[in-house]
Amino acid sequence: MMGGVIVLGSLNIDLVTEVPRLPRPGETVAGGDLRRHPGGKGANQAVAAARAGARVRMVGACGADDGGELVLGALVEEGVDVAGVRRLPDVPTGTATILVEQGGENMIAIGPGANAHWDDGDAPAALHGVTDGDVLLLQLEVPAAVTLAAARVARRRGATVVLNAAPLHTAVPGLLDDVDVLVVNEHEVRAASGVEDGDPTVLARDLAAGASLDVVVTLGARGAVLCGADGREEHVTAPAVEARDTVGAGDTFAGYLAAALAEGRDHSYAVRRAVTAASLAVTRLGAQTAIPRVEDLPPITH
Ligand code: ATP
Repeated sequence: MMGGVIVLGSLNIDLVTEVPRLPRPGETVAGGDLRRHPGGKGANQAVAAARAGARVRMVGACGADDGGELVLGALVEEGVDVAGVRRLPDVPTGTATILVEQGGENMIAIGPGANAHWDDGDAPAALHGVTDGDVLLLQLEVPAAVTLAAARVARRRGATVVLNAAPLHTAVPGLLDDVDVLVVNEHEVRAASGVEDGDPTVLARDLAAGASLDVVVTLGARGAVLCGADGREEHVTAPAVEARDTVGAGDTFAGYLAAALAEGRDHSYAVRRAVTAASLAVTRLGAQTAIPRVEDLPPITH
């Protein structure tokens, strides 16, 4: 039987203003009208896994405010089970305040809001029904202690644990102990390795062998590389596309990868499908709006 994907992570509202250029400290710049979109790495990846065809459950927290309504509504529309999302009466929904300059450069400030509010028992309780065949998908936008506890519980219950170690974070001691597949971009693999420079593939190879897990590094337009704990290595090239907006590419990749693993696919196939989906996402604008549906993907070659 196919397993499900459980995403434990953040739900945010993205507050986006386009500006002719990013302001300097102390400066005010006139921009376009404010736009509000559902976001947060957790919620985005849940949407991606759902559009990939998986049965998806979201575990997290948001406020009892209209931001919470917006981000939950977007998940429900995709068929994501949101019973595991706590609605907190006295805390705002997490926000990402984003300034986007013409040409694509941006500045982002995160207000974690409800994403920072977890009690010790919340993650284990939410993962009570997880079994082998399921995939737990984690990121680093909720407290690291919560992510650690969740990985431990899911591993003990026989699930596959996928960690997208994003956003960029200094290495968290012990975090990789209960992870089966680590998904990182070129900057994040350096942070996870504790090495400031170096070739991402070499770092991934060392990390995979040292921590005994599979490491997938996304390489932007160059696709991705999979370094197995057993020493196998596979480069997957991305199709040549006209990239319009790379926002959400990493989330599309992680959600699609987790969905393929829950289907029982091998890691190699999962990376191919994730590359294909993410490369389609960069041709479209926005975060959740850019995530393709599985039926829009070309066939995956072996
Ligand atoms: P983001 O933070 O923008 O969401 P990221 O830095 O986490 O992305 P990237 O390595 O930039 O991740 O991209 C993830 C995947 O998206 C790549 O593995 C690739 O499949 C696809 N991708 C990104 N940029 C391009 C591009 N210019 N052309 C084709 N595919 C791309």
